[in-house]
Amino acid sequence: MQGSDERGTATILLLGGTAEARVLARRILETWPDARLILSLAGRTLAPDAVPGALMRIGGFGGAAGLAAFLRETRVARLVDATHPFAAGMSRNAAAAAARAGVPRLSLWRPPWDPVAGDDWTPVACLKGAVEALPPGARPFLALGHQHLAPFFRRADLRPIVRMIDPPDPPLPAAARLVLGRPFPDPAQEAALLAETGATHLVCRNSGGAISYAKIAAARALALPVVLIERPPPPAPPLAASPAEALVWLGALKAP
Ligand code: NAP
Repeated sequence: MQGSDERGTATILLLGGTAEARVLARRILETWPDARLILSLAGRTLAPDAVPGALMRIGGFGGAAGLAAFLRETRVARLVDATHPFAAGMSRNAAAAAARAGVPRLSLWRPPWDPVAGDDWTPVACLKGAVEALPPGARPFLALGHQHLAPFFRRADLRPIVRMIDPPDPPLPAAARLVLGRPFPDPAQEAALLAETGATHLVCRNSGGAISYAKIAAARALALPVVLIERPPPPAPPLAASPAEALVWLGALKAP
């Protein structure tokens, strides 16, 4: 089998950066203890959680051509793109590189959230739309990556609250309040945090998935308006909606 070493051990490259990728990594290693699993991260988090048994690599590949070369050189048998639904560039590169290297590729693409009764959502197409959707003097809770914050800071009337896993460098502007830590999976804890900060709005992306849904449920419980940035189109098929579906796709890899 392509991608098998002399012991018949298959190599799987898993593009991560999401909770689902970590879940899938653990499930792969439980299911096929002999598989050689490479978990690749972009390097956005200073101290990412390791997955015992997985080989971790950190940093970009150098575009689709770099990834195609990596797939060939590392003799990867299957590529699973489990990056974030908003990481559209990486997903495009993954599809192109897999085609170029002749490696089967699957994208793990979790479904977007849909509004339910009690939600007060303003869907917007982009960051600029999110900034413009906030009324004068708003105190938005920005559940966004640090690279997406600058347009909010340019509005002098806003008093944003920013949650980050690592302390920002350079520090946030004086008008912003920093909350350090990961999102709580429990809506009640998210609601307590939103209430304590005095947030008037929640601004986030329609990421989908169970773990980061807690803030959406919390906003609903507090009747807090949500400015929701819509996601880019899905990657090219085949797609899996969950780690379990991805595991089925990988089933053909089972070591002899
Ligand atoms: P992006 O714009 O699609 O990717 C930018 C570049 O980062 C890619 O071209 C690639 O560099 C590198 N990269 C991305 N994911 C990688 C991975 N898993 N392994 C190795 N290199 C990777 O993505 P992004 O929005 O900056 O997100 C970066 C990472 O953060 C992704 O892995 C994603 O899963 C994670 N993440 C993103 C979000 C979000 O809201 N966008 C939220 C949570 C987590 P090269 O071209 O040099 O290969």
